[in-house]
Amino acid sequence: MISKSNFTAARQCYKRAWLSKYRKDLAEIDENTRARFDVGRMVGKAARNLFPGGSLVNLNRNQQAMADKTRSLIDSGCQIIYEAAFIFEDLIAVCDIVIVTPKGLQIYEVKSGTSAKDEYITDISYQNYVVSKSGYEVVQANLVHINTEYTRYGELDYEQLFKIVDVTENSEQSFEMIESEVPIVREMLNGNMPNISIGKYCKDPYKCEFYNACWEHVPDYSVFDLYRVSDKAYEYYSKGIVTLEDIHEKGILLRGVQKQQVDTLVSGEPVINKDEIHKFINSLQYPLYFLDFETFQEAIPSYDGCRAYEQIPFQYSLHIQNKPGEELIHKEFLGKEGTNPKRTLAEQIIKDIGLTGTVLAYNMSFEATVLKKLAEEFPDLADHLLIVANNLNDLLIPFRKTWYYCKEMKGSFSIKSTLPALYPPEMNPDLDYKKLGINNGTEAMAAFPKMATMTPEEVEETRKNLLKYCKLDTYAMVKVLEKLKEAVEQ
Ligand code: SF4
Repeated sequence: MISKSNFTAARQCYKRAWLSKYRKDLAEIDENTRARFDVGRMVGKAARNLFPGGSLVNLNRNQQAMADKTRSLIDSGCQIIYEAAFIFEDLIAVCDIVIVTPKGLQIYEVKSGTSAKDEYITDISYQNYVVSKSGYEVVQANLVHINTEYTRYGELDYEQLFKIVDVTENSEQSFEMIESEVPIVREMLNGNMPNISIGKYCKDPYKCEFYNACWEHVPDYSVFDLYRVSDKAYEYYSKGIVTLEDIHEKGILLRGVQKQQVDTLVSGEPVINKDEIHKFINSLQYPLYFLDFETFQEAIPSYDGCRAYEQIPFQYSLHIQNKPGEELIHKEFLGKEGTNPKRTLAEQIIKDIGLTGTVLAYNMSFEATVLKKLAEEFPDLADHLLIVANNLNDLLIPFRKTWYYCKEMKGSFSIKSTLPALYPPEMNPDLDYKKLGINNGTEAMAAFPKMATMTPEEVEETRKNLLKYCKLDTYAMVKVLEKLKEAVEQ
């Protein structure tokens, strides 16, 4: 059987569809993808509330049994069916929601995204095609997606949480493409593994689950790591230019950060622009605040006053140095699990950060957005919050502008790349993220909402891990600034 997933996988890359059928063992689902699947399932179930009281066709390995069950529900007069299955030849479509009307079927494809993206239209086109060919009249094909303008107050309002877009015409326009593509996919799936090289499609529209298997031969540091390289990397790769050494040997002229990546790799010497770093350091005013927020997002908001996919700050870490050379003070905030932490966090931050001095963040647009949103939401705290936002300066600047660049950064300027480049973890175990229970932003983001359903012991452990993680983020900034100071003093 060819499912919608097989078909859309083949649209991304034939090899992906083939591997999904024959070499599932090579698939690696990363945390982001797993989280996306979980959200998709949750949103799919929530959307059933738009049409309550329907009958569910249970997922079953026997797909014919699912289609038979669907047919018998329709024949017996059932008007709302969830997970309705339809088969045409060797094609199967399982529709999230089907409404049976006297004129025919309305089909609904539920997505956890926030707009009617092109890839969603391909999905529903496939469903529409198979249902129509299986002997039913499809009178309407609809896409259901999340409405980010909805703010929750009290009980969830499903009519507001979701947007329904009628894509009947759009989806029918793809029937011809599906008709011509299906025989190719069918033949490909019955043959040997297609010989397909790596390409842009490995990450677009989603990172492929076979990425590690297909990219195994590409070295850790390659032309794909050139700063903002985009499609050019594939052009190099197709000519056999894979490493940065290859770029150097072929005498390819690069500019800006890319040139520095190759130059520092060849010479082994870092780039240090003392004048610019000096100016940057001189622009900082004491007290110095090193600030980092953690936020989480929910497709279906749990708390009053929250929108779908709103970035909700739940934690911050703050290192403070009142005068040059003075001892550091550490402050932190972590919201109570199972609550909306925005107000308490905003109140705490105006107690912890004064109205003068520099607030250093790493990639400060994120911190600025969080502070401004809090100011918008809590007008009584706005003056102070906006001054804090106004006092922000960005520790990323000296690196992004390559006033300080060394080969170990490998073209990436995130704190997770800069810190180990400046302080090798073997010699600085206290600065090693890998030693932490939670060691990246994605995990932190997932941990806070999960705590609402954890046991007290699990909550305690998770809170400890979150605090350690966020604390290292601001301590890393302190250490990075120290390194910049050392560089200009040498
Ligand atoms: S990693 Fe790329 S080449 Fe390999 S299966 Fe996926 S999309 Fe195709």
